[in-house]
Amino acid sequence: MMQLYHDNDVDLKVLDGKKVAVLGYGAQGRAQALCFHDSGIDVTVGVRKDGKSWNKAKEDGLKVAEFADAVKDADVVMILLPDEIQPEIYEQYVKPNLKKGAALEFAHGFNITYKLIVPPEDVDVIMMAPKSPGDKERDEFVAGFGVPALICVYQDYTGNAKNVALALAKGLGSTRAGVFETTFDNETYTDLFGEQAVLCGGMTAMIKAGFQTLVDAGYPPQMAYFEVFHETKLIDDLLYAGGFELMWHVVSNTAEFGGLTRRDRVITEESKKGMQSILDDIHDGTFKNEWRADYDAGLKRLHEMEADEKALQLEAVGKEIRSLFQRKN
Ligand code: NDP
Ligand code: MG
Repeated sequence: MMQLYHDNDVDLKVLDGKKVAVLGYGAQGRAQALCFHDSGIDVTVGVRKDGKSWNKAKEDGLKVAEFADAVKDADVVMILLPDEIQPEIYEQYVKPNLKKGAALEFAHGFNITYKLIVPPEDVDVIMMAPKSPGDKERDEFVAGFGVPALICVYQDYTGNAKNVALALAKGLGSTRAGVFETTFDNETYTDLFGEQAVLCGGMTAMIKAGFQTLVDAGYPPQMAYFEVFHETKLIDDLLYAGGFELMWHVVSNTAEFGGLTRRDRVITEESKKGMQSILDDIHDGTFKNEWRADYDAGLKRLHEMEADEKALQLEAVGKEIRSLFQRKN
């Protein structure tokens, strides 16, 4: 079982007198920096000079510095930049300025698990991964609560690494909801698998195939869009709110009987082998190598795939249908 922590288990005082540098002011960086600031934590945002983020953090009333300056006297350095950018920013600005005994912190394990960032031995290496998009994190905090989070310790130089990770989670309000402890490898592998096999990869593949099946059978694409794309949101809202049980309860009996008797024709034993091979690629580094190679090649493959995706008929139909849902009054 995973250990679960709440407010009373965690002391925010661990961060008293400590300087926290939040590198990056995007989805996670902004939400986390603002919450920490409101929790009384001494935060400096580290971003490139005069970029969009630089101005935004200033407007939000936070201390702002360039990466190297933010890292220099920080006790906690939070790397909240896009994962593929992190290794170069780390080499150039973080590594040369990182204090002995500081904590290097991440919100996703990718670069540590795959050793694309190899920290020195004399620092703590921790993770605090809120299970939410940044905006929702901030909204929940402002409402006096927080979103659940994961914490992990990869390297404990000071003997205090876990307390620092937990205190950061408390600063974000997450201990009000609940904080699980796990490991960098578990977070990285399960996160990648989820987005590839089910959430981003699996779901779009299923929608694409369902849409094409109806269109190839001669049905109007607008009908196909409503039935296999638009309504995924309605079903997912039910799943999110009350699990399979609520969803099966709310949909018609016909939908329930049809869904339960037919779904194994879509996700077959072959599909499960496909999922296993996705997990194998994640475990043995095949996926990481492919992704790094494309990043090094200027994202050539990614851009080609984005263009193909944009050209799909369902995207054009979707634009038309979604605009009908926009209120015109
Ligand atoms: P974002 O893409 O939102 O980060 C944008 C920030 O990175 C901006 O401040 C931008 O600055 C800066 N940046 C981008 N490119 C560069 C560059 N080449 N050089 C310098 N600065 C750059 O990141 P996320 O918040 O989405 O992700 C941060 C971490 O959080 C990742 O590890 C991610 O896996 C993790 N995570 C993300 C979640 C999410 O909801 N998105 C959920 C949980 C974890 P500028 O304005 O100057 O361009
Ligand atoms: Mg994820």
